[in-house]
Amino acid sequence: MEKVTDALKKAAIGGEKKEKPKKEKKGPAADAGDAGPLELNPPPSFINDRVELFDKLYKEQQEELAKKPRTEILITMPDGTVKTGKAYETTPGEIAKSISNSLYKRAVVARLDGDKEQLWDLDRPLERSCKLEILDFNDEQGKFVFWHSSAHILGEACERRFGCSLCIGPPVDSGFYYEMALPGGAAVQPSDWAPLENIVGKIVKEKQPFQRLEMTKDDLLKMFSYNPYKQHIIKDKIPDGTKTTVYRNGPLIDLCRGPHVPHTSRIEAFAVMKNSSSYFLGDANNDTLQRIYGVSFPDKKQMAAHKKFLEEAAKRDHRLIGKQQELFYFEECSPGSTMWLPHGMRIHNAIMEYIKEEYWQRGYDEVMTPNMFNTSLWEQSGHLAHYKEDMFILDVDKEQFGLKPMNCPAHAMMFRHRERSHKELPLRLADFGVLHRNEASGALSGMTRVRRFQQDDAHIFCREDQIKEEVADLFDFMRSFYGMLGLTFKLKLSTRPDKYMGEIETWDRAEARLKEALDDFASSQGGVAWELNAGDGAFYGPKIDVAVLDCLNRSWQCATIQLDFQQPINFSLEYQTAEVVKASDAKPAPAPAPEPAAEAASDEHKDQKDHKDGKKKPLLVKKPLAPGCARPVMIHRAMAGSIERFTAILCEHFAGKWPLWLSPRQVIVIPVGMGFLDYAKEVAQILRKERFHVDVDSTGNTLQKKIRNGQLAQYNFIFVVGDDEKKNRKVNIRYRDDTSTQARDVPVPLDEAVEKLKKLKSDRGMYNPFPPSKEETTKA
Ligand SMILES: [Zn+2]
Ligand SMILES: [Zn+2]
Repeated sequence: MEKVTDALKKAAIGGEKKEKPKKEKKGPAADAGDAGPLELNPPPSFINDRVELFDKLYKEQQEELAKKPRTEILITMPDGTVKTGKAYETTPGEIAKSISNSLYKRAVVARLDGDKEQLWDLDRPLERSCKLEILDFNDEQGKFVFWHSSAHILGEACERRFGCSLCIGPPVDSGFYYEMALPGGAAVQPSDWAPLENIVGKIVKEKQPFQRLEMTKDDLLKMFSYNPYKQHIIKDKIPDGTKTTVYRNGPLIDLCRGPHVPHTSRIEAFAVMKNSSSYFLGDANNDTLQRIYGVSFPDKKQMAAHKKFLEEAAKRDHRLIGKQQELFYFEECSPGSTMWLPHGMRIHNAIMEYIKEEYWQRGYDEVMTPNMFNTSLWEQSGHLAHYKEDMFILDVDKEQFGLKPMNCPAHAMMFRHRERSHKELPLRLADFGVLHRNEASGALSGMTRVRRFQQDDAHIFCREDQIKEEVADLFDFMRSFYGMLGLTFKLKLSTRPDKYMGEIETWDRAEARLKEALDDFASSQGGVAWELNAGDGAFYGPKIDVAVLDCLNRSWQCATIQLDFQQPINFSLEYQTAEVVKASDAKPAPAPAPEPAAEAASDEHKDQKDHKDGKKKPLLVKKPLAPGCARPVMIHRAMAGSIERFTAILCEHFAGKWPLWLSPRQVIVIPVGMGFLDYAKEVAQILRKERFHVDVDSTGNTLQKKIRNGQLAQYNFIFVVGDDEKKNRKVNIRYRDDTSTQARDVPVPLDEAVEKLKKLKSDRGMYNPFPPSKEETTKA
C-alpha cells in the first residue's frame, strides 16, 4: 500500500519533471566558428569620418557652454528640500551623488518640473531653477530611457559587426529593437546573436559615456551622407534652419533627441531576443530591413527573472494549450476566425452562461441585431468616415453593405424605433452578436487578435443623472466577475481632451459623477483605487479604462466603460422627460444632453444638400430635440470584451487548469479493472444527468497510467472505482488542485460526491469540496 501511494504521489506532481531537457545555450565561442569574424576589420570608413566631424563640433559646443554665465539656481527635490547649484555647471547626476552614491548608481535619468516631456541626461548641466526627480529603472519612463540607451549599444555592436546602415532603434513594451540594412541586403542570422552579445559585453565594459551634441540640419546631412535612411529621416523630420541633437557613445554617433543613461556600463545584463525583417517606415514598397530585438536590465538577477517569466508565459501560451486540450484551431481559408472545437465551446458557453445570469440579476435585456447593414447606417454613425479601413464592405443588390464591427449603431436604431419615455431609462441592451473587424493578416495572433468575434457587449441608455449609479453597478459587476476568476484590475479615468464635442458643462458634470463613483468604489470593500488620465478621453465622451492583471501580472484590456454624447446626436435619440408628462412635478427635469448647435446644423445642411444633388438618401435626418424631450447618454460597456480574447487570457491565467465551472473536462471515472467498468459507466451516467462533462477511461492501461492520463488532460476530479466502491456505492476521489487528495484512500458516498460537485459548480468556486477529515490531518 505504501509503495502504491508513493507512486501515485509522484504521478501527481511529476508533470513538470517530464519536460525535455532544455536546449544547451551556445556560448559566444561555440558560435564564432560558423558566424565569421566577430567584428569588421578595418571598421567601416564612415565611422572615422563621423567621429572627426563630431569631435570638431563638440569642442565648439563645449567652448560655447563654458562662456555661459554661472548664475545661482535652485533645485527643488520631490521631498521639498531645495539645493543650490550653478547654471550650466550643476548636473542632476551630481545632485544624486550628493544624496547617496547608491542613488546615483541606480539612477537612469532626471525629470524636470514633473513634466514627462522634460527628461534630462544625468550628466547634462542644468540651465535654470527647476523641480528635479531622479528616475530609476522601476519608473516607466526610466525603463524606457534604459532600453532606449541599450538600443544604441545594440546599434553600435551591429555597425561594428556588419558595417550596416542603421535606421531606427526605439524602446518597445518589453525591451527595444534596432532596425538596419545590411550590406548587399543580407539577412541577420540567429548565429549572429551570440557574437552581437559578445560585442555588447565589450561596449559595456568600456564604460562609454553618452555625449550630447546639438547640430544644424546641414551638418547632420553631411555627417550621415553614407546612410540613405538617416538622410530621409533628417530631411523629413527636421525643419530647415533648425538644430537637433546627436548622441555619441564609443564609435557610434546617432541621430537622437535623447536622453540616455550616463554611460554604457549601466547596462549590466543584455540579451538578443529575436530578429525579423521589416520594411523601412513600415511600407512594403520600401527597402526590406532587418530588425534585431533585445532586452536589458540593470542587473543579472532581473534578467534571470525575466527569462523565467518568458518561459512560464510560453508554457501558458493559449495557442499551445488550445492545441493540447483540443479547444480551438484556425483554418487557412478563414484567417483570424476561430474554429471552436467541442471542448472549447464548453468554455465559451460557461462564460456566456455566467454573463447571462448576471444580466438577469442586473436588469439587462438581451437583443439580437443583424450582421450586416447598408452603409447608410455606418455613414450615420460615423463609422464609414472613421472606421472604414477596419470594416468588411460587401456589394449586395447594387448597394454597399458593411459587416458590423460594433453593435452600437444597431442599438441606437433600436432605441429610436419608437418614442421613449424617461420611465424606460436606464435601458440596458445586451448583444452577443458576431462582429467582424478587418485586422491586417500580419497582426492576427491566436485568439488575442482575430477578425471574427463575439463580445459581451451592451449599451446603456440613461439620463445624465443616472450615470453614477450605472457606472457603480459596472464596478460591482467587475468586482464579482474578475474576483471570482482571481484576476485583479486597475481603473483609469480619461477626461476631456483638447478637441471635444458638446458643452463643457456636460463634460464637467459627467466627469464629476464618474469621479464620485470611482471614489465610492475605491473606499468600498474589495474596491480598487483609480488613476486620472487627464485629457485622454475620446472626443465624444470621458471613459474608464480597465486593465486586468493575470497571475503573471500581465496587463490586459478587457472591460470598457465609455460615455458617449455623440451617437445620441447622430441618431437623434430622445426621450420624453418627466416635465412634459406632469408639468406640475416639482422635480426639475434632467439637463438635456449636449447639443453642438453649429455642428448639428451644418450636418443637417449637408444632408439636405447631398439629397438635392441626387446622392444617396441619408438614413435619417438629424433633428433638434422635440419639446419636452432630452437626449439620453449612451454608455458603451463590456466586461469580458471579446469572448475569444477573454478565453485566451483565462487559458494563460489558469495555465489550462480550468476551475470546475469553466472546465471542459470535469470528471473522469476510472475503473481499477474491467470488472468495474459497468459501475464506472453508471457513475458517469449519473454525473452526465447532472450536466457534468464526464468521461470514462475504458482502456486496458494500468491504473497508474490511467490516473496519469487523467491528470495530464487536466480533469478536475478523478473518480477511481473498484470492488469496495462498487459494493458500497462510493467513489475514491482525487482533486487536481489539491495534491493532498492524490494519494488518499477514503471513498466518498456517490450521492454525497455528486451533491458536493454540484455545489462547487454552482458556486463557481475554486475550493476543495472534499477536504481531508480531521482524522486524516492529525495522522499526517
Ligand atoms: Zn537615443
Ligand atoms: Zn458600443
